Amino acid sequence: MAGIARGTGPKVSVKRQNAGSGQQSIENEILRGIPTSELDVLLPKMEISAFPARAVLTEAAKPIENCYFLNGGVVSIIHVMTDGRSIEVGLTGSEGFIGLSVIVGCEISLVRSVVQIAATGHRISVENLKSVLQTCPVLERNLHRYSQELSIQTIQIAACNRLHSVDKQLSRWLLMTQDRVGKSSFPLTQDFISHMLGTRRASVSVAASALQKRGLITYTRGQVTIQNRSGLEQASCECYGEINKLLEAWGKVLQLQT
Ligand SMILES: [Zn+2]
Repeated sequence: MAGIARGTGPKVSVKRQNAGSGQQSIENEILRGIPTSELDVLLPKMEISAFPARAVLTEAAKPIENCYFLNGGVVSIIHVMTDGRSIEVGLTGSEGFIGLSVIVGCEISLVRSVVQIAATGHRISVENLKSVLQTCPVLERNLHRYSQELSIQTIQIAACNRLHSVDKQLSRWLLMTQDRVGKSSFPLTQDFISHMLGTRRASVSVAASALQKRGLITYTRGQVTIQNRSGLEQASCECYGEINKLLEAWGKVLQLQT
């Protein structure tokens, strides 16, 4: 299966310059976790941007020009094979950051990052990020911590992609997406989810129909609605619960460090 074509997504539009007043609503958890003194350094270096669905924020094996702190929405983190096939290996939203390899000195992206659910967020150039990291130790620490959180998720999803059935993967994916968008209804095309799960569109259609027949979701005209959250959790493979359990354990480790 061919992956999402390079450069075909909508362009990210910069809505307005953040003047660093601190008045802009910040929903990103990494930014909310740094002291005001660091935020005051960071905000003038960033721009508020709109991220439409299918926008490509980073491209695999290409230089990273900008990094992103999302205030919401969902971005798929996708591994691209040399033959062009691709598969999702992680999801991120307001809890995370896009462009992680920059914090360890690598400015070539390992992954393609594609917006699944439109959002707004903060965009910062690589040069600006590198300049502020030197004076923002809490930000740098939090980015490293998020890197570990993303690794926890990525390891589990790698196994999930190989070992679990499409309907269980789809259930897991829907739960993870709902966690990030904070509502039970969100846009979703079967074509897109087939790319994410690395499976045929027909398989996704069968899986979505099965979940719908069980009363767990409804799916009409590119909009999915989760009707029975607890039922969907039971329908999911172990991966959804395992990721949350591991992240919770990691959070307890961090509490002991601070
Ligand atoms: Zn799984």
